[in-house]
Order: sequence, then C-alpha cells, then structure tokens
Amino acid sequence: MVNSKNVAFKVNKQVPVRGPPPQPFGTVINCRKPTGKRAINRIEEVRSQQVPLSKVPGVFEVESNRKRGIDDVGDDDHTAPSKRSSCSRDNSPAFTMSPGFRPEERIFPTLRPRAKPTKLRRGKALSKEIDLDCWFTILRFADPAQLLEMRDKIASCYRFLRDNPTLWKHSRKHYYKDSLPEPPAELTEFQYAHLRHGHGCMSCGAIQTRKTYWAFLRRWCKNCLQKKTIKETEARDMFKDDDGGDISFISKCLPSGIFDSWGNFVGVGPAHAHSLKTVFLVSDVEKLVAQFNQEARDNLGTWHAEMRTWMNEKVKLVEERREFAQKMEQWEDSARSSKSFDYQGRKEARKTFFVEKAAQLTPPICLRQMELCPAYRRSVAIPKEPNMTSWLQLKPKLEKEAAEL
Ligand SMILES: [Zn+2]
Repeated sequence: MVNSKNVAFKVNKQVPVRGPPPQPFGTVINCRKPTGKRAINRIEEVRSQQVPLSKVPGVFEVESNRKRGIDDVGDDDHTAPSKRSSCSRDNSPAFTMSPGFRPEERIFPTLRPRAKPTKLRRGKALSKEIDLDCWFTILRFADPAQLLEMRDKIASCYRFLRDNPTLWKHSRKHYYKDSLPEPPAELTEFQYAHLRHGHGCMSCGAIQTRKTYWAFLRRWCKNCLQKKTIKETEARDMFKDDDGGDISFISKCLPSGIFDSWGNFVGVGPAHAHSLKTVFLVSDVEKLVAQFNQEARDNLGTWHAEMRTWMNEKVKLVEERREFAQKMEQWEDSARSSKSFDYQGRKEARKTFFVEKAAQLTPPICLRQMELCPAYRRSVAIPKEPNMTSWLQLKPKLEKEAAEL
C-alpha cells in the first residue's frame, strides 16, 4: 500500500478475535529523511511492522522480557536511566533516530511466538535441556538416599554428584534438618551419605550387608568384621618399637569398638566392663606402629619430646570419631524405634478401618468373629496404611471365612 507521500507501508492482516472490541490506537510514522547527525547513522527505513501499537493491551506483554534485556545492554554504554525508561515507552520512530541508536539493535519489538516452557514428562524427550544450575537446585531438595541411587545408576548423574559435594550437604540439611550429627573432618558428605544409606559389604561386596560400624567408618558383613578386627589383648604383641620395646600405650591413638563375650559387636569403644572386649582394626594397628617407628627414626634425638604432641593430635581425632560414632549409634536406634512405632500405628489403623467397614456389611461382622478369621489376622499384620484396595481384597475372604465359623 502507498500513501500520499509515496512511502510504502504494510497493513497487518486483521485476524478476527473474540472478546471486547479493539481499543482505538494511533500509529505515528516519521517519513522525513534523516538529516545532520542522524544521517550519519544511516538508519534503515522503519518498517511498519516494527512500529508498536500504542496503548493496546496485550501487545507489549509478549515482548516485555526481551525489552528488559535491551535495557540491560544499555547499562554497558552507561545510558542514563531516564533515557532507558523513555526508550521502552516511546513508540515514535523519531526516537529511533536519536544519537546512540545502532541499527543492529532492534528497539521495536516484533511479535514472535512465545517460547513454550519446558515441561517435564516421563518418557518424553526434553526439547530444551535443563542446565546444570537448575539440576543443582532441584537435587538439593532430594532425599540423600535417592541421590546415592542416582549416582550409582545414572551415568550422567555420577559425575555431577561427584563434582558437587555441597549438594549432598544441602540435601542432608533439607531432609534431616538438624536431627543428624555433623560428619567429622575425616569424612566427606558423600562418604557420610554412603555409610548411612548404602548397601553391601565394603570388603567382600556381599549385597545383603546393611550394618555400618561407625567406630571404624565402614560397612562390613560379620565375617569381614571378624577378619579385620583384633582384640586388644591379642594385639599386644604388635605394639613393639624397633628395639622390641613395648609401646602399647599408643593404643589410645586408635579408633576402637566393643565386642561382647559372644563376639557380637556392641558399639564404639573402648570397653570399660570385664565381659566386654575392646577391638581395633588390624590395619590401623599396623599403620600406627609403623608410623611411630618411622617418626622415632626420623627424629632420633627429639622424639621423646615430640612424641607427646604426636600422640595428642591422634587422640584428638580418635575422640572426635568416638563422639560422632556414639551420636550415629543413638540416631540409628531412635530411627529404628520410631520406625517400629510407625509400623505399630499403621497396624492399628488397619484394624480400626477394617472393623468399621465390616460393621457396615450385611450381615455385619463383629470384631470377635473377625479375630477368628485367618485372613483378617494376616491383613492386620501388614504395616501399611489401610485403603479401599486393601479392604476390597480382604472383604470376600472375610465374608467366606465368617460364614464358615
Ligand atoms: Zn564382607
């Protein structure tokens, strides 16, 4: 279309829309040729589709985000804030010819279709990949046990979880609040989570093993524990210096556990009762004795004076480990008892629910009759919340067994 000044312009196709009639609007097109400084900039001709329609609701919303982006670019040029704000409001093309305007910058918004947000659907490939920062935010709210499983089973997660140790800490803090003790300095967050939630013996790989010996910071099966530990009385011969002298006094620098007289692990050591035995790790004893003798050889003249400091540092670490192990043993006990309390509560809830439902049957079945039915007794032994599915499974068996009473 050509107007009286022989300037071509395009009229947008009018698409009929439902809703209220469109508001009146005006479009100002500056047809004058640029002069003076403006000419230097060699502005491209303003196309009508670049001219935003003023005060038409909905038109600017589409591009509001992008416009903000342009304003941000202006920050680099130290543009005055007032100018930037007028830029986002002023619709006249005359403004586009002001000094500082660069033709490559598209000040006027074009109506492009809005990018659809990424939707997470099982079995559907993502059109846009989620960046790692987002994954960090998502995974910090995950259960540490779940993170551990992801690390083991999903190759791409393995590296990400390995390289983001703070993620494990966020996850632990979010999931357990302050109920879990802080790990000692010798344990990383991942190792801590692995000892808490991992499965399998860390020596022979037996998959059923769940027991973590916090005193030794290891998860072992019973056989491996027996093989790797030594009783204090039996270890006495190992505590010898280079001259064959007894150095068993350094045993207090070792982490220890306690066995009862049947050889069962009781907890973190050392033992203070006659019937209980203190045990050490064989590898710990060998390492400590070798280190002691090496230090003694290296500091021949001064070792007697330095030995006390050397031992104090070791004892400090052992005490930190002992304190942590005791807290973890207490935490495991309380988690176990709260779990069994939880199970008991669910069983009670099943009883109440089934009795209520059985009373509504025709003919109703009373509690005394129900208790004589094996199906009912089996069902209330399951530690799960009752629901209609569990009731509908029980109902025909209960009716049959009650009728046969
Ligand atoms: Zn084992």
